[in-house]
Amino acid sequence: MLKNKSIFIGGIWHETNTFSNKKTYIKDFKSYQWLENKNLIKQSNNTNTEIGGFLDIFDQKGFKVVPSLFAAAVPSGIVTKKTFLKIVKKLISYLNRDQIDGVALALHGALVVENIGLPEYFLINEIKKKLKKNIPIVATFDLHANLSFELFQICDMLIGYDTFPHIDMRNRGNEAALHLCEIIKSRKRPEKYFNKLPILTVPQMQSTNESPMKEIMKSVFNSEQKNEISSISVSPGFPYSDIKDLGLTVIGYGSKLNVLIRECDKLTDQIMLNKKKFTPQILTINDLQTELLNFKKLKKPIIITDPSDNVGGGALGNNTEILEILLKNKLSGTIVIWAPYLKEKIYKGNFFDDYIVSSFPNKGTKLIKIKGNIIFNQLNFSYNRDGLYMTGQRVNMGNVLVIKTKFNLKIILTENRVMPFDDKHIKVFGIDPINEDIIVTKSGSAWKIGFGEIAKTVLNIDTDGICSSNVKKIIYSNKYIKKYWPLNE
Ligand SMILES: [Zn+2]
Repeated sequence: MLKNKSIFIGGIWHETNTFSNKKTYIKDFKSYQWLENKNLIKQSNNTNTEIGGFLDIFDQKGFKVVPSLFAAAVPSGIVTKKTFLKIVKKLISYLNRDQIDGVALALHGALVVENIGLPEYFLINEIKKKLKKNIPIVATFDLHANLSFELFQICDMLIGYDTFPHIDMRNRGNEAALHLCEIIKSRKRPEKYFNKLPILTVPQMQSTNESPMKEIMKSVFNSEQKNEISSISVSPGFPYSDIKDLGLTVIGYGSKLNVLIRECDKLTDQIMLNKKKFTPQILTINDLQTELLNFKKLKKPIIITDPSDNVGGGALGNNTEILEILLKNKLSGTIVIWAPYLKEKIYKGNFFDDYIVSSFPNKGTKLIKIKGNIIFNQLNFSYNRDGLYMTGQRVNMGNVLVIKTKFNLKIILTENRVMPFDDKHIKVFGIDPINEDIIVTKSGSAWKIGFGEIAKTVLNIDTDGICSSNVKKIIYSNKYIKKYWPLNE
């Protein structure tokens, strides 16, 4: 009876940092992920992505999949209205009203668009207009979603990632697809519950392998064991966004509302009681200088994180404060710096003797002199992810130049911004992370997938960037956010 059902799939994925000046345009989606029509199936099959997860289940069930568009851009500033409407128009152009029995979407949940209040809600509303009545819609979302009640209401089920660093995209795609099949089969929607908590947490403290998220997720899984509970998701959220729906969200679905409320409220109490465990430990740039006086004694590899310049959180990835310390102290290691000028500026020969550009949100730009051998130089370079993050996904780094100084500091300049969610983005240049003295990573927690196991010393540094782990540095325009922990302390 379930055979011959048709499922419409697609999605839009962007974590928008509204404090970034770098607006997000259609070219940013096209240069990262733009999978359309049959290509969406071809490129997503057998990948650790939400769409890959949808396809596993719909294939198994013998459903017909109607692919549309999945567009994703590396986290950055607000998405222009024109860009968003173009994506929505393209996505729904694949919708044929009479054919569709269910919809599965891969969303992020932290998308912000100019002059469109709730863009993900807007997209689903547009899809709904083109569907027959009562067609179920499920969607996946990132653990960094700033979920709105409106998005929660318009979807029959929302299934969030359970992991950070994110490694369960395919599993959550499987889960969402299975729930969609169940809703189609039973023609029954689950009961649902939404709870927003007034706390702001930062990526550095949201790892689900560490306290307090580890214990929180354990409670989630315990609750999900109950027969009456279908799914519970906790989204700590993304604080670098000046919108009304900030805060940590607990959402759940199940067959009995009273059990669902009881389990979600229990979880809420646990989170509120333990909120102080989300307080990050961060060092200043001066502290780093002091720590590195002991460079010889520090166990290697030393991972220096720069969460303020977190590329995966929408920062530019070209802050050079840490690089300058390494240069000054002639320390060996590896650092990746975003260098958009490589698009026009083509380097020839084996030696680099030039300036690289660093930008700071409050101090403008700065030029840093670099001298060294060019050990890698390629135009339009890309690689396939083979780590646990979005395994199988293609990443386009653009033009790439790798410079090695006399004291073995490798500076990887990339035309496109690259999220350090795997170790392959440095391994492809012949750099073996285990042999490095220092690896600088512009990331909050996601670096742990690639380098967590080899890290012997970790130094988290608070540089001048828009993703600081100190949320008290952020100026929110919504006054009520000041009542959120830790801003109310
Ligand atoms: Zn995320």
